[in-house]
Amino acid sequence: MADSCLSDVFNFSAGPAAIPETVLQRARDELLTRGTSFPSLMEVPFSSAAFRTIADQAHQRLSALLALPDNYRILFMAGGAMAQFGLLPLNLLGSSKRLAYVDSGYWASRAITEARRFATVDIVASAWRDDEGVHLPAPKSWGLETLDRGVAYCHYTANETADGAQFPELHEHSSSDVAVVCDMTSSFLARPLDVSRYGLIYAGAQKNIGPAGLTVVLVRDDLLGRSAPQTPDVFNYGLQSEARSCRNTPPTFAVGLANLVFEWIADNGGLSAMARHNDEKSAMVYRTIAESCGFYRCPVAPGSRSGINVCFTLPDEVLTERFIVEAEENGLHHLRGHSRIGGIRASFYNAVPHAAAVALSQFMKDFQARRG
Ligand SMILES: *Cc1c(COP(=O)(O)O)cnc(C)c1O
Repeated sequence: MADSCLSDVFNFSAGPAAIPETVLQRARDELLTRGTSFPSLMEVPFSSAAFRTIADQAHQRLSALLALPDNYRILFMAGGAMAQFGLLPLNLLGSSKRLAYVDSGYWASRAITEARRFATVDIVASAWRDDEGVHLPAPKSWGLETLDRGVAYCHYTANETADGAQFPELHEHSSSDVAVVCDMTSSFLARPLDVSRYGLIYAGAQKNIGPAGLTVVLVRDDLLGRSAPQTPDVFNYGLQSEARSCRNTPPTFAVGLANLVFEWIADNGGLSAMARHNDEKSAMVYRTIAESCGFYRCPVAPGSRSGINVCFTLPDEVLTERFIVEAEENGLHHLRGHSRIGGIRASFYNAVPHAAAVALSQFMKDFQARRG
């Protein structure tokens, strides 16, 4: 596809998702130049100076974006976010037998199921539903301050990618002696973040960081060294931290692309600018839903709606299928909702341009006028 076409075609995929066009162009050029960087990033040993330079740069750029406190390590791991569902208890449980989880939706429940293979899981708060839709339990209601110290950590899912629901930032709420662990896969780097509120943050790269295959883990120093003896070496946070994520072959190309995405975020105003753009995009589509007189409905209550994954439904299945087909014909791709949830989902990650939200809103209005 010629680049000239790209601007009329928009990718609303929930993941693997849109990557900034300029990053893709640079990756393409760097793959084939073989000039200064011969051989290309895909072909160098992970132990080489060439890869070390790129990995160090990615560390520095990510640290700068987050103003990462000194007592946190960045790990570049493999296995995706779901691997972390099991790796968290293996690495963090230590002598404890209990874990606390917030059950906020599809991804939280997957994390809970996996954690139950390793420990007793207390559900400290759950999402609920009323006439307004799904509500997330406010962090104030989790009881973080009074959690039993015998609990190894409290886990929550910052943004429920499938359900389209998102928590506010944790810094608006009270702190805890128990480490807070967060699955930030679909909201990492989408808005400013106070890392010091967390014991550990993890994110699969394919939503907002780069290509699939890489998982970024930020872990506070004092949580290292608790890994169970049966933890595989390559999934041991402490060992990977000591080895600067090179205990085995890391996903080198994905790290290289993430490095370019980190640079792109900084060049485009950093995390507050990302937040502003993402909010504008999602707010535009929520407004279109609100102005549709009930033709489009969002299943999430206004205070819990995701600023990233906008979910909505149409009056019936036939119209939903029609919507998806006609949207594709109009260059609006990957709008089908999660298979367990149904409906429509439009994802507005950092790399999705403002024009995508404009085009989708216009299409929604046209579709309603024709079929409503
Ligand atoms: C996509 C997603 C996952 C699963 O990620 P994998 O990399 O496929 O394992 C987990 N949690 C959240 C919040 C997600 O959005």
